[in-house]
Formats: sequence, structure tokens, C-alpha cells
Amino acid sequence: MDENALLAAVPDRLFIGGRWVPGSAGLLTVSDPATGREIKSIANASVEDGAAALDAAVAAADAWAATAPRARGEILRRAFDLVQQRRDEFALLMTLEMGKPLAEANGEVTYGGEFLRWFGEEAVRISGRYGTNPEGTGRMIVSQHPVGPCFLITPWNFPLAMATRKIAPALAAGCTVVVKPAELTPLTTLYFAKLLEDAGLPAGVLNVITTSTSGRVSAPIIADPRLRKLSFTGSTEVGRRLLQQASENVLRTSMELGGNAPFIVFDDADLDKAVEGALLAKFRNIGEACTAANRFIVHESVADEFAARVAERVKGMRLGRGTDDGVTIGPLINQEAVDKVAALLDDAVARGASVLTGGSRVHRAGTFFEPTVVTDVRPGSDILREEIFGPVLSIVRFADEDEAVRVANDTEFGLVSYVFTRDLARGQRMIDRLQTGMMGLNVGVVSNAAAPFGGVKQSGLGREGGLEGIHEYLSTKYTLTPDPFGV
Ligand code: NAD
Repeated sequence: MDENALLAAVPDRLFIGGRWVPGSAGLLTVSDPATGREIKSIANASVEDGAAALDAAVAAADAWAATAPRARGEILRRAFDLVQQRRDEFALLMTLEMGKPLAEANGEVTYGGEFLRWFGEEAVRISGRYGTNPEGTGRMIVSQHPVGPCFLITPWNFPLAMATRKIAPALAAGCTVVVKPAELTPLTTLYFAKLLEDAGLPAGVLNVITTSTSGRVSAPIIADPRLRKLSFTGSTEVGRRLLQQASENVLRTSMELGGNAPFIVFDDADLDKAVEGALLAKFRNIGEACTAANRFIVHESVADEFAARVAERVKGMRLGRGTDDGVTIGPLINQEAVDKVAALLDDAVARGASVLTGGSRVHRAGTFFEPTVVTDVRPGSDILREEIFGPVLSIVRFADEDEAVRVANDTEFGLVSYVFTRDLARGQRMIDRLQTGMMGLNVGVVSNAAAPFGGVKQSGLGREGGLEGIHEYLSTKYTLTPDPFGV
């Protein structure tokens, strides 16, 4: 399918109660960050549309919770198969609305699709416990139940995977959902909703609202006592605000928030592997990943060689529109993102850092920033404290292991850490000492549908994926009955 045919095939309406309906707040326009051109106008939801979406999720909740786990699992499995069939369409759509190179968009289709398969399989494995109480007077039954209607809010950087990572476990657990994708990249979610409709998902189980006024439309949904769960992926700043709102009703929440990943290279590391890992951990998704390595903390004896080698590789990267052959670095999502990256780099340089390659905005249509390597970044620089969310690899030096750990943990975030060492005992010490929800030991990408993804500290609450992921959408019930059942 070519670009125009694909864009025409994407629904331009809200999906509420199994029907595609217009939004009552006019239109929302989506642009291609590689060209700055508008690519599609879609429905813009109002507060009333948001309420209608929650009404639909509430109306469908009991029937969906009572649907056989196998039936829920089979719908997810069909959705997985359809994602494979429509792989090229999803990849192109993500490149068009978000900017990532097509090869990476394809990788996201694989990763995002896997949540459908994984949780389709998990749907039939929801289990409990049964046992005698310690006193020997009764039986204790522990069972799992769907939490009820959920509100799922997703970011723009992984338009498919961030949606499936929430939708698949929620549906597998027997919950109905209202999904609100980011206003910058809503098309992938709309196209995915259509796919779930094709996979046979009953009306009202999944509802999608797209809106340019996220705060206004979301607040009443979060305040509604019929909502039982809020799952959010996005910035820590917005997550904090949503947690405050959720506290009113003591709403269950999952929060996948920002990161500031350290990438530690010890003097005994395999430098070839460390360079490969660094390029992946930094430049995948144009640096716009919560898991992106933000601070390269490199032993002073190998720092110059590491910096020179990554800079050489970065010089060979090709910047351009993600649809073009050979492009490895797409545009940043918008002008604000470019300004932020430029400001962080300016601050680092003003404090004494040196740019080895890149360092500038690119003056062409679209919102591009050169892939950059900056070294000798001084303590206290903003770039070490804030998420860069762009293609800038920033290096600091350390002298011994304790210093590396201290620098790595010196952040309010704790999502993921990367460590390169050939010393197994040191690797184990790093697992114990780094304050992090996830760790890549001699590897630059950790994401996997079968693994629990999530952070500690201000990187969030809860886990997505793995055996843990479905429990975010289940509540535990304990029943006591005298032996034998009190009858
Ligand atoms: P963001 O916080 O600006 O927006 C995320 C979502 O929240 C979007 O859908 C947005 O429309 C919505 N939103 C914004 N304000 C809102 C409000 N007041 N009420 C309700 N919804 C609101 O984040 P972003 O710029 O889209 O994404 C980038 C951020 O997401 C980065 O900080 C990144 O680290 C984080 N992220 C985290 C993970 C993770 O799994 N931990 C994954 C991807 C991205």
C-alpha cells in the first residue's frame, strides 16, 4: 500500500461502543515530522466524547469479564496474526506520523505484536491459590478478578508497542478499556483499533478517543468512580499530575515514566561490544526512548578510545526521512524537541564539554538534529540530569567502581541501566548496587514482551509485559470458608 492509500485507510473517527463516530470538538491534525506537512485530519474528542467512551467501556465490562479466557486469548492471537499480515502498513504509518526509520518501525511491529501473542497465551493462565489455614479450621481461597474499566494513556515515541503493551494484558485479564493515544501520533492506534474490530473484539471492549486537549478530556474520566484503573506511559511530570488526580478515588495506577539511563563501560569491557551496544542504546528511535542511554559513564583508561570509536560510527549515520533507503536517523518529533536538545548541548559545551561530531540543528524541512557525540561532560551539566530524548551521546569519565555506581545512581530516575564488563563478579555487584528496574549486562537493548518492563524511583510504578504484566489488570480476592465449606 502506498502512503496515500494507507493514510486514506486509517479511520478518522473516534471508536466508541463498536462504532466509528465523529468527534464533537472539531478536528485534530497530524503532521509528518520529516517534512512538516499535514498528513491527516481526524476527530477531536470533547469532554462529552470522553464520557461516552467510558460509558461504553462500563456497559461492556461484565460481559467481557465473563467471556471465557480462551475466547479472549484467541481474539488476541488473531490480532497478532493480523498485525503480521499488516506489518508493512503499521511500519509505514509509524514512520509517517512519528519519523523513525522504516527498519526500526518494522522492529517495533515485531515487538508490539508480541504483546498480543504473549498475553493471548497468558489469558488462560490466570490462576489462584487454595489451601488450609494455619489453624486447620478452614480453607483459604485466593482468586484473581479483572479490575474493571481501564483508562490507558500512551506516548508518541512507540505508537504501536506502547498501545499493545497495555491493551493486550487488559483485554486478556477481562477488562474493558478507553485508550487515549498521544495527539502527535494517534493514527497507529486508530488503525490498530480497526484491526481489533476485524479480529472479532466485541463492541465496547476497546474504545479510542483522540484529542488535542488531553488534560481537559482525561480529568473527568479519571475522576469518574466507575473507572477502576489508570495506566499511563509518558513523562514523569505528567505522571505525577495524574497520580494526584487518581488519588481522589484511590484509583489503581500503573506508571511508566521517564528515564535517565546510565551506560557504564568498565576498563575490562569488550570495547567492540560496548560500542555496538552504545549505538543501539543511544540512537535507536532517534534517541527518543525512555530506555535511551542518557549518560555514558566510561572508565578513564578507555574513555578516549570509546569516544573516538563511537564518533567514527556516528559520522557514518545517514539522516533523512525514515521512508528513504539507508536512513538511520529520522527527525525529532517537533520543534520543541529540537530546541530542548540544542539547549542541553549548549549548556554542556558552555560548562566545558567537547563536541566530537555533530552538534547542530539541520536546516531543512522537518525537525532534525545531527547525531552527536559530546565528551568530557562536566558534573552539574543539565544533560546529565534531564532526559535528552534526542541523538546526543554524552560521555563522562570515572576512576573506580564506587564512583561509577555513585554517578549512575545520582538521579531521581531508575528505569534501565547498561553495564559493560567481562568480570562476572563485578556484573553481579552491579545488579545488586544499581538503582534500576531493568539492566542490560553487556547488551544495549533489553525490551521483550516476556520480561517485566518498568522502573524504580520516579521512573514509575508497576510492570508491563512478563508474568507480571497481567497482574496490573487483576485484583486479588481472598475467601475463607470453614472446612468443608461450612455446609
Ligand atoms: P507526555 O507525558 O507529554 O505525554 C504522554 C501522554 O499523556 C500523551 O498521550 C499525552 O497526550 C498525555 N497527556 C499529556 N498531558 C496530560 C494530562 N494533563 N492529562 C492526561 N493526559 C495527558 O509524554 P510524551 O512526550 O508523549 O512521551 C515522552 C515521555 O514518555 C518521556 O518522558 C519518556 O521517557 C516517557 N516514556 C516512558 C516509557 C516507559 O515505559 N517508562 C515508554 C515510553 C515513553
